[in-house]
Amino acid sequence: MSSAKVMVIYTGGTFGMTQNGNNALSPSRWDDIVAHISPINKEDFKQVEFTLESFDNPLDSSQMTPKEWVMMAEIIQKNYHSHDGFIIIHGTDTMAYSASVLSFMFHSLSKPIIFTGAQLPVTHTRTDASINLINAIYLAAAKVFRIPIIPEVLICFNKVLLRGNRSTKKSTFDFMGFESPNFPQLGRFNQKIEINKKNILQIPEIPTKFLFNICPDIITINLFPGMNFKFLKYINKSNEIKGIVLRSFGSGNIPQSQEFIEFLEEAIQLNIVIVNITQCKEGSIKPHQYGASLHNKNLPIINGYDSTLEAASTKLMWVLANSSPQDHHALMSKNLVGEITT
Ligand code: ASP
Repeated sequence: MSSAKVMVIYTGGTFGMTQNGNNALSPSRWDDIVAHISPINKEDFKQVEFTLESFDNPLDSSQMTPKEWVMMAEIIQKNYHSHDGFIIIHGTDTMAYSASVLSFMFHSLSKPIIFTGAQLPVTHTRTDASINLINAIYLAAAKVFRIPIIPEVLICFNKVLLRGNRSTKKSTFDFMGFESPNFPQLGRFNQKIEINKKNILQIPEIPTKFLFNICPDIITINLFPGMNFKFLKYINKSNEIKGIVLRSFGSGNIPQSQEFIEFLEEAIQLNIVIVNITQCKEGSIKPHQYGASLHNKNLPIINGYDSTLEAASTKLMWVLANSSPQDHHALMSKNLVGEITT
């Protein structure tokens, strides 16, 4: 009978939180919650050998920064060859950002890295933490359960399995906390675990590459009617911003303001990389579909297609740090790890 080695990395989040004096939830240390984590002692998992790792200071995921992304990535890199799968217990608020950035950091990934968390702490009677972790263990130890190995960064939450860089947090309270509006679910947890085999990435033939550099010098601009474009000039004046994720209207439309166009032209002259994504949850940028399309302006603005904000912003931070300026445009427009449909 086959066996599997699974690493569980606890970073914080509601999963392991308890109420402090003000009734506010804050992260507990792994040692204080591990007694409640029954899944890892379950009889069903006797063929799974667990390695447990924890951040020294578990965080509410609203406090995550590139430093913590790299910490997670380095733990996985160190244990990559000795384990079959990795589970990251993470807060839901920024889980989609961490899952997106890790998908770019591990190029040609050959093993599952599964993010999970909870809407109710593991100590709560009605917690969703245990079932989410149990489902993640099945996937991380796939060969034991004769489930296909999914060589991707995933989000496993409630009844669904989603590609990490296609996911977004959709609810602050619903157990179904995440969705993947522009890409099919990769699996469902019903009576059986159903994997959507035709949509999962193939196990690569080349070795995994680890590229963990991150450039945090980007911003996002969310257009809205009546926006006062004069404030944008401070972005160009900063001389520090290297990338902009622009969230335009519909299929890529912008207000026809001379001040805004001049801002974009100046930003481009300053070599700021600009990627255009839509504010709509569903759908893609369609250059030139309307007269008001940003892409009618003959500016070298990158089409972000149907990217989530989480994937576009973390991809930009990763591309800026791991490639030379002449490659930024091509890499941003390309589907690297299933994050966009071009
Ligand atoms: N604020 C929490 C966090 O992201 C929310 C959660 O985990 O559900 O860490």
